[in-house]
Amino acid sequence: MTLLEVRDLTSGYGEVQILWGLSFRLEAGRLTTLIGANGSGKTTTLRAVMGLIRPWRGAIFFDGQDITLLPPHRKAAMGLILVPEGRQLFTDMTVQENLEMGAVTGRARARFRQNLDYVFDLFPRLKERRHQKAGTLSGGEQQMLAIARALMAEPRVLFLDEPSLGLSPLLVLNLFEVIRRLKAQGLTMLLVEQNVHLALAVSDYAYVLSGGRVELEGPARQIARDDRVRQAYLGL
Ligand code: ATP
Repeated sequence: MTLLEVRDLTSGYGEVQILWGLSFRLEAGRLTTLIGANGSGKTTTLRAVMGLIRPWRGAIFFDGQDITLLPPHRKAAMGLILVPEGRQLFTDMTVQENLEMGAVTGRARARFRQNLDYVFDLFPRLKERRHQKAGTLSGGEQQMLAIARALMAEPRVLFLDEPSLGLSPLLVLNLFEVIRRLKAQGLTMLLVEQNVHLALAVSDYAYVLSGGRVELEGPARQIARDDRVRQAYLGL
């Protein structure tokens, strides 16, 4: 079942067009990845889907409903949750306070205690450090906190923008282990990653972006074998 469908999306910044008629689908319970060179429009796509920048043309359907022009808070209330590039934590607030900020919907607030137990179970390290200021966490812990905060909103679709950025190789592996666990729990996710090799290894389906368009798409395993992808993104 298609949970989110983006049809012929165009958008950009000011007069500058970045997305040129982009279409993709997220299937429920599947992990989909967007890969592409720097500047190909991956982050811009997430921002336009979330409503952080305005879609110029095209349509976005979520669960059969046209959500193209809804503002970000309405999309978040429906369960579209973004873990932004660079994490954007409240660094002067504690781990637990950051998690409280994540419970953005009435539904999520009502289940705050349960959800807190759930994320502390997923990230025991955050439980140990619940009273520590977020700004004093290590880079890897901060990334985990950014994901945990998003989970506190009870996402129906989780968008992850470059979650491995700035992490050591070991922490990158930990992160992908977490992504695998979330996938095993049936969460629908869209992953944007520089680490194309790992992204294709965990994903079900992949879209390759180039110049704000989808250049190639297919099951992740098939995309990983594609000669163009191997040369351009996997260094093979
Ligand atoms: P990266 O992997 O480098 O983050 P990306 O595929 O996510 O790349 P985007 O961040 O979507 O690419 O950027 C696409 C284009 O939009 C780039 O040419 C970038 O310079 C431009 N761009 C991004 N943000 C802005 C902005 N706020 N104002 C103007 N142009 C922008």
